[in-house]
Amino acid sequence: MKPTKIAKLEPILWDRWLLLKIHCEDGTTGIGEGGVHGWQRPTKTMLETMAPALLGKDPSTIEHHYQWLYRSSHFMGSVVQGALSAIDIALWDIKAKRFDTPIYDLMGGKTRDRVRCYMHVGGHTLDELVADGRAKVAQGFTAIRFSPFAPDYHLHKSYAEWADEAVRRVGALREAVGNAIDLCVEIHRQMNPAESIWLGRRLEQFHPYFYEDPMLPDSPAIMGEVQAQCNIPIATGERFASIFEYQQLLDARATSYIRPDVCLCGGLSGSKKVAAMAEARHVKVIPHNPLSPISTAACIQLDACIPNFALQEYTGEAAPPKSDLLVKPLELIDGYLTVPDEPGLGIELDEEALEKYPVEDKILDTPIGFDGSVQDR
Ligand SMILES: [Mg+2]
Repeated sequence: MKPTKIAKLEPILWDRWLLLKIHCEDGTTGIGEGGVHGWQRPTKTMLETMAPALLGKDPSTIEHHYQWLYRSSHFMGSVVQGALSAIDIALWDIKAKRFDTPIYDLMGGKTRDRVRCYMHVGGHTLDELVADGRAKVAQGFTAIRFSPFAPDYHLHKSYAEWADEAVRRVGALREAVGNAIDLCVEIHRQMNPAESIWLGRRLEQFHPYFYEDPMLPDSPAIMGEVQAQCNIPIATGERFASIFEYQQLLDARATSYIRPDVCLCGGLSGSKKVAAMAEARHVKVIPHNPLSPISTAACIQLDACIPNFALQEYTGEAAPPKSDLLVKPLELIDGYLTVPDEPGLGIELDEEALEKYPVEDKILDTPIGFDGSVQDR
């Protein structure tokens, strides 16, 4: 194949997301996304800081570029990793397009034809939650994810009150959708370890597929104690940005399902490494995916080439602005995303849509408790 060089990095702030295009001298363009949730502007600045080091370079030496940029500073962190992830995904898109084949084909080949998704469900009241759960099942999804807490969970309630309410909400959804549907319980880090063990034990009767982030994920050893003491599988890892953090999580046996974010943990290269580390411990992978359809497209490429894929997070892409981003939307049939056959990520950006939606910056916000204290989001 004729060599080419990287000609330009084009970060794009679009709605709530940070997209990236990398242009090559031969006209090939790669697409990526950086996933530092809410911190798009600092991550865009990081991409602009890294860009000069990539100009004129061979786009095919993906791991070399990652190592050089990652090790060029004493200090790492999520903004660095978000930028590196966007670059990694775009470079894989370029490489695979130049070989005229999907990315998964270059990463070991297809391990499945379609990707099972879980869909988000919400509702302020119990009735609204159950109605939304039924609606998503009617759309064809076979797994749904929801918070067991009412939106006012941080206001004053006794421990028994809010825990009972959580048990009632999970029980009501199980009764509404039956055992043919998997329930994914998302705690959003809103309990301490003792509370999460106690609630986890009470939720065992409803057979949740996973129990996500039952406590803050920063202490893998303590999360491991929670996992050892309640008999439902924990899923965690969405905030982690490097293979070293995942290693601590896996060594502590803190999780039954690992949740790499392709746009944060080193792109497709980083998440493939995380998946292999998890495979060696019989842990399955549930990629985190709260971003644009570019993130979803990248997740599918990962899901399609690893043996230990379990479920794919999916937030729905049928409404604007997401529905406008791709020339041809990703195919979703009965709750499964189809693994595409097209080269690269298998997507093309709609240039008009890129002009259509202004940047939506994150507003700093987290719940304040009944006594005025700051709560976790
Ligand atoms: Mg989560």
